[in-house]
Amino acid sequence: MLKKNDIVTLTITDLTNEGMGVAKYEGYVLFVPKTAIGDVISAKVLKTLTSHGFAKCEKIITPSETRKDVDCPVFTKCGGCLFRHITYEAELAIKKSWVDEHFRRIGKLDIACDRIIPSPAENGYRNKAQIPCGEDKDGNLSFGFFAPHSHRIIPSENCLLQPDFYADITKTVEKWMKQYQIKPYNEETHKGILRHLFIRDGRVSGEVMVCLVSNSDKLPHADALIKMLLATNPKITSIVLNVNKKPNNEILGLKCITLYGKDTIRDTLCGVSFDISPLSFYQVNHDGAEVLYHTAAEFAELTEGDTLLDLYCGVGTIGLSMANKAGKLIGVEVIPAAVENAKENARRNGVINAEFICADAGEAAKKLAADDMKPDVVIVDPPRKGCGKDVIEAMKTLSPRRIVMVSCNSATAARDCARLKEIGYEPVKMRAVDMFPRTGHVECVILMTKVQL
Ligand code: SAH
Repeated sequence: MLKKNDIVTLTITDLTNEGMGVAKYEGYVLFVPKTAIGDVISAKVLKTLTSHGFAKCEKIITPSETRKDVDCPVFTKCGGCLFRHITYEAELAIKKSWVDEHFRRIGKLDIACDRIIPSPAENGYRNKAQIPCGEDKDGNLSFGFFAPHSHRIIPSENCLLQPDFYADITKTVEKWMKQYQIKPYNEETHKGILRHLFIRDGRVSGEVMVCLVSNSDKLPHADALIKMLLATNPKITSIVLNVNKKPNNEILGLKCITLYGKDTIRDTLCGVSFDISPLSFYQVNHDGAEVLYHTAAEFAELTEGDTLLDLYCGVGTIGLSMANKAGKLIGVEVIPAAVENAKENARRNGVINAEFICADAGEAAKKLAADDMKPDVVIVDPPRKGCGKDVIEAMKTLSPRRIVMVSCNSATAARDCARLKEIGYEPVKMRAVDMFPRTGHVECVILMTKVQL
């Protein structure tokens, strides 16, 4: 039996979606961070539990063929990337295996991804950053990223997942705070002003939105900040104050006050233009989102005159990108600002067959079912926790020909597809789309069709 401080030689055979290498020592599972599949290592046992233990890599005896040089100084310290030490090809193979494994183990479904589509860009793909702002032990201002499972800020000047100009904007805000003695928010005392810096850019429009999340209704020296930001980046079309006075973990508050320019930022996806409010969800990887939506459209196989129900629709992106193939589109979304955006986006793009409902997806689905709506195709794109049980329940009555599930969490997607199977839907096709290179996240699209009884 292994015990603490034992030194063992291990071969890493798998990686978890928390970034832990997995190895077996005489059948006993050990998790070892900062390793790659194929590494042969000398490891020190740190902790042993009944079913598994944890070890630390002391020395790499034979490195995995998938290893590459790490290109970020805060890799493994910040909670962002899991995969800067292995090739992108190796990362894709692991991510596909995660999705397949979830469907096999959690869903007990006989389906695997036909393939995983890589993201068009490995770095610089993020069009959104939420950068926490705080003070370090010595009282110095720090912007960066939270350490894994923590609220400790790891200072990071230039995150490779974001475009370079985000760092210039961050530096400008830092300079303004120093110049006017604006204090960062302190999570323990609830004092201070600036909580987060939120930046978004429109990849097609080139527009940039800067949003300052603050613990106050008014931003002191806002005029000076506006001037400094515009001098830093003339592409900034919108500067917004978001007020969040709640002593909790949520990044954004409900109130937005536009300090400069527009209330929204514009971007174009699959040829359709979208205006997006700070509170509205928008896919973080523009080129990846186009791949994702093309996959969803391929699986949806809309035929003329079809009624399409787009649940969890955000600003309407998925539905509006295929509305020209549908007879009617109904979108459902719970965030009021996003629904407003969706309606306006339909209008601006000349889509006249769309309707958007602001409601909980389950509530709306139940109501539509009670109203005897019979959609031909339903698309569901829920948040990480998956579909509400009532959404699945409503599918019995809505009875669409096809359900296309788009999910950023294959574990809950597998659970939900298993529930759909119980009510008469079969998984037919599944594909992974990597929207989040270098991180532990991956998107998947599943087609479920109604079984003819
Ligand atoms: N399909 C969109 C948005 C997907 S993200 C896109 O691709 O851009 C999931 C969306 O579901 C978010 O917009 C979120 O606000 C919304 N949402 C979360 N919980 C919901 C609920 N219970 N009912 C309806 N919408 C919900």
